[in-house]
Amino acid sequence: MKDKVVFDLIAKEAKRESNVIELIASENYVSSDVLVAQGSPLTNKYAEGYPGRRYYGGCAFIDEIENVAIERAKGIFGVKFVNVQPHSGSSANLSVYLSLLKVGDKILGMDLSSGGHLTHGSSVNFSGHLFKFFSYGVDRSTGYINYDDVQKIVNKVKPKMIVCGSSAYSRFIDFERFRTISDSVGAILMADISHISGLVVAGEHPSPVNFAHVVTTTTHKTLRGPRGAIIMTNDHDIFEKIQKGVFPLTQGGPLMHVIAAKAVAFYEASFPQFKIYQKNIIINAKALSSALIARGFDVLTNGTDNHMFVVNLIKKGITGKEFQDLLDSCFIAVSRSTIPNDPKPPYISSGIRIGTPAVTSRNMSEREMEQIADFISSIYLYRKDKQKLDSICKDVLTLTSKFPIPKSYV
Ligand SMILES: *Cc1c(COP(=O)(O)O)cnc(C)c1O
Repeated sequence: MKDKVVFDLIAKEAKRESNVIELIASENYVSSDVLVAQGSPLTNKYAEGYPGRRYYGGCAFIDEIENVAIERAKGIFGVKFVNVQPHSGSSANLSVYLSLLKVGDKILGMDLSSGGHLTHGSSVNFSGHLFKFFSYGVDRSTGYINYDDVQKIVNKVKPKMIVCGSSAYSRFIDFERFRTISDSVGAILMADISHISGLVVAGEHPSPVNFAHVVTTTTHKTLRGPRGAIIMTNDHDIFEKIQKGVFPLTQGGPLMHVIAAKAVAFYEASFPQFKIYQKNIIINAKALSSALIARGFDVLTNGTDNHMFVVNLIKKGITGKEFQDLLDSCFIAVSRSTIPNDPKPPYISSGIRIGTPAVTSRNMSEREMEQIADFISSIYLYRKDKQKLDSICKDVLTLTSKFPIPKSYV
């Protein structure tokens, strides 16, 4: 007998995903091939170890699948060595820290309120528990990373590792400059490109692979694959340490169904359509940020170079949490976000983060970005007018119904 409870809920979630204007910068819609690979019998298989060196029998096809995933990742990123086993971005970062550093070592990362990730040293995360983290933020007046300031902090702190990359920074990251700064104190440079890896593959954001000693990325954000992560490097010695750092140090059996789905996503990312897709993500992010600025919203750094931007809501007199909930009630999904030096705690926060990877997957373009900016601005204006809100919600559903979630991208 089928489990009606769970499958009914899955159906409801699928409907929600198709109804909403999805503007959460870290989300996307995978192809049905990625879904099928992830839902395949590979989930039944134990395969601790690496291709050719497993601790279980019956791994012939599993080995081939993992090798395909590795080769494809090497190809799309133009990198020498890849580990495709990390279960998530957080576990990839844990593996890197523990394989290349000693517990208690000093690391410099971007602070959370400026756009850094939890795993870049937050006190409530393993990173902050296990290592002595220091942080850099963004320039108070421009909102950009000030590399001279980063150099000054590095001179003082002398970290063993510098982590660059972020979850809510809308400008290009200068990996070359970060490498120069790292070299000045002999630190290891780690680039966490979880958010921007799709742009990097498409050549729409400078790549860190020739500058950072080690690169981590999730596979489910702009890369449009299954939930998971990979670790990359061009350095053979670092790779040997990373291999041990993933298994057996921090993980057991790899999720082979997810690795197969990663391989499918890398296949899809190797097509010219993927490059066009990433270009369009940026065109849409620029269009949506300009349209919101034109409607009186305060966008950090006044625009974006990538797939996302953060709106500072302080002058609007509404918190990030309130605005997120308000938009949610009208089928628009965003995530609240702290702003640099946020007066509010992260659970409330003073901003919202908006990203265009998902709406671009649905083939929306600049015209729809104008329409979405109108929705967001009217929802704010009429937040106390129930009747008006109801009519905006209807218009939102009309828009999403015209842009079905694609089943395939190549
Ligand atoms: C999303 C993200 C991660 C973590 O990914 P999870 O899979 O949620 O653990 C790590 N680093 C950065 C910069 C991210 O944006």
